Amino acid sequence: MNTRMRRLRKSPTIRRMLQETILTTDYLIMPLFILPGENQKDEISSMPGQYRWSVDRLPEILEQITSANIPAVLIFGLAENKDECGSEAWSKNGSAQRAVRFIKEKYPQLCVITDLCLCPYTSHGHCGVLAGIEVDNDKTLPLLAKAALSQAQAGADFVAPSDMMDGRVKAIRELLDNNNLETTGIISYSTKFASAYYGPFREAAASAPGFGDRKSYQQNPANIREAVRESLIDEAEGADMLMVKPALAFMDVISSVRQESRLPLVCYNVSGEYSMVKAAAERGWLDEKSIVLENLTSLKRAGADLIITYHAIDAARWLAE
Ligand SMILES: [Zn+2]
Repeated sequence: MNTRMRRLRKSPTIRRMLQETILTTDYLIMPLFILPGENQKDEISSMPGQYRWSVDRLPEILEQITSANIPAVLIFGLAENKDECGSEAWSKNGSAQRAVRFIKEKYPQLCVITDLCLCPYTSHGHCGVLAGIEVDNDKTLPLLAKAALSQAQAGADFVAPSDMMDGRVKAIRELLDNNNLETTGIISYSTKFASAYYGPFREAAASAPGFGDRKSYQQNPANIREAVRESLIDEAEGADMLMVKPALAFMDVISSVRQESRLPLVCYNVSGEYSMVKAAAERGWLDEKSIVLENLTSLKRAGADLIITYHAIDAARWLAE
């Protein structure tokens, strides 16, 4: 035999030399759910090991994040009061805004990214304002921009619109620039699918739609050409980074967007992907550490630059071993 691939896998040293994809903690982003009020640390039952925190209790988790050398957090604010148009999304004293100010003051080395959507704040749970039973795209845009401005003024390094309305990146960029916030970046959830993998998250963020579903604005999981178009449109509107969400069942999409765009690409290893691993590991069916590192390395191999993952703290610890 001329070709013996096993020569290249013969020893741990040779395997180490030839490893093509390296996962490091530098690429990990940890999501955090922020509750209104004080002295709250609520376990999310469908996501073992994940909690919702009030701002005053954040140091407990932020110490773990910074000592694991994780560079960034993604903030999800939860509402105190919901209304038809989600007005708490742009409240200066909203949970997300308070968390951003707190983190930027106490942990200035952390990169703070804010999820930007109306659904945690609307009484009907949809990602925009309603016209009848439809989400009105163009009436939603100025509200998203207003919420982005409020998060940027609180000190967010990047705002991350996740609503999948058309034209929102441009609307947000314009309002930020008009308010001298041209250094605040936009990480667009540019290709976000209407996915069953978000199930556990909806409990975490209390953001399930009160009626219907999100299929008129989020993307059909069956479509890859449309998925690439969505990301390229957001690039043209001024996004600084693109995103594919969810991640594991959509690695072909990550790979395609990677080939079509030069922008940094983020993927979101979502709640359902996390909870499946946790549930199987709890039963002893899978080795959690090996599975998590294999999943995250594979996302990197598929073309993601950065990975948002609830496994971030565990993964960072394992990578440091
Ligand atoms: Zn939403």
